[in-house]
Amino acid sequence: MERVEAKDYVFHRDFTKEYPMIVRAEGVYLYDEQGNRYLDASSGAIAANLGHGVTEIAEAMAEQAKTAGFVHTLRFETKVLHELAAEIGKMAPAPLNRVYFTSGGSEANESAMKLARQYHRDRGKLEKHIVIGRWQGYHGNTLGSLSAGGDIKRRQPYTPNLAKFEHIYSPYCHRCPYSRTEEICQREKRMPCAEELERLVKEIGPEFVSSFICEPIVGSQQGAVVPPKGYLQRVREICDQYEIVLIIDEVMTGFGRTGTDFAIEQFGVVPDIITFGKGVSAGYAPLAGMIVSDQIVESLVANGNGRFIHGYTFSGHPVSVAAGLAAVRYYKQKNVLANGKEQGEYLFQRLRDLQKRHSSMGQIRGKGLLVGFELLADRSRDQLFPPSFGAADRLNHEALKRGAVFYPGAGTIDGVNGDHLLIGPPLTITREEIDELVAILDQSLAAFEEQVYT
Ligand code: PLP
Repeated sequence: MERVEAKDYVFHRDFTKEYPMIVRAEGVYLYDEQGNRYLDASSGAIAANLGHGVTEIAEAMAEQAKTAGFVHTLRFETKVLHELAAEIGKMAPAPLNRVYFTSGGSEANESAMKLARQYHRDRGKLEKHIVIGRWQGYHGNTLGSLSAGGDIKRRQPYTPNLAKFEHIYSPYCHRCPYSRTEEICQREKRMPCAEELERLVKEIGPEFVSSFICEPIVGSQQGAVVPPKGYLQRVREICDQYEIVLIIDEVMTGFGRTGTDFAIEQFGVVPDIITFGKGVSAGYAPLAGMIVSDQIVESLVANGNGRFIHGYTFSGHPVSVAAGLAAVRYYKQKNVLANGKEQGEYLFQRLRDLQKRHSSMGQIRGKGLLVGFELLADRSRDQLFPPSFGAADRLNHEALKRGAVFYPGAGTIDGVNGDHLLIGPPLTITREEIDELVAILDQSLAAFEEQVYT
């Protein structure tokens, strides 16, 4: 290949596409070099929860870089690390108090699954090693986290490399894989989607199962589907009964995205480990991690010489942690969660209005400012587009032309279909900006429908 421009050396992009060159970002907007403005309706990858250009965070990072740009956490302590751990530990439900930092969500989930394994092993449960995940779940792109998730497109090329993890279907009452309805499940107080976990554990043998990992509200793989009442409680009971570590992946849902610090609070369940990422630093620096129960950490001290056999060079990187600390303080000081909740309700209402005029819009769901809706090929039959159609990509393409960026679509039932749109603007968005977002979506849906229905 003849290299003519600096961009030709980059190996991140899809080489079949051209992307706008972003030169500036402020609030909910990104600006390219031609002066075009894009409303960031997906907070990047649901990470920039506080919007762009927050000087408090930028200054905290610069200050830390000047003070001590890198400190190896295996050998030294830093004040910023202590302070951020304390902030996050206090935010999480008791007894989840101990915080371990990583650079990204995939690493956080790797760490959690490995810690669960070490926890059992330290206690003499040598055979407990299998992780159970869900087909409609995404936990990252490293081999372990990919093995736990169900994104078929991302898994397929690497099938021989993936770990032998097991999977169940996650709840999706609107298109129940067990052909039930939420009403029936609530009436009978029995959910096959939850009972399937117990059935699978028994089939594998509980003595082999180490952990169960799921998102409280599924993000990219399902488009903000909220589980039915009682589902996560039943999952907790099963995990307790068979001594399985329950890992709740809040990489996307954490830090106010769904209206509370962590989404799991809304379901009355306390897991053993919460993993987080994205919003913790509001996207200003690579930062993620896990919050671990006292019981697991105490066992590590008592049975594992106090050492988690794991570690990354950039765990607790001081500049990232300084960004996290400034972000977490900003969430509180500016009452960001309350705004996110209020604007989320307004967005829901506006989407319901839009749905009356757009036959491609199916079920709308989500919580806070994590909102999704299905894209329908045929509303009269409530039928989704086929997987190969790339409905969400087409709609996204129309939106980009009109100045808004939504989250790229992924699967709903089978982890393949690109048939829903996920919306997650910064939690600092104003009502007027929501109106603008909806106006662009309205025009984009009209263009999309003209293309696909004629
Ligand atoms: N878990 C969830 C729920 C996610 O949405 C993501 C990323 O989208 C990850 C894990 C992986 O995080 P990262 O891309 O930071 O490795």
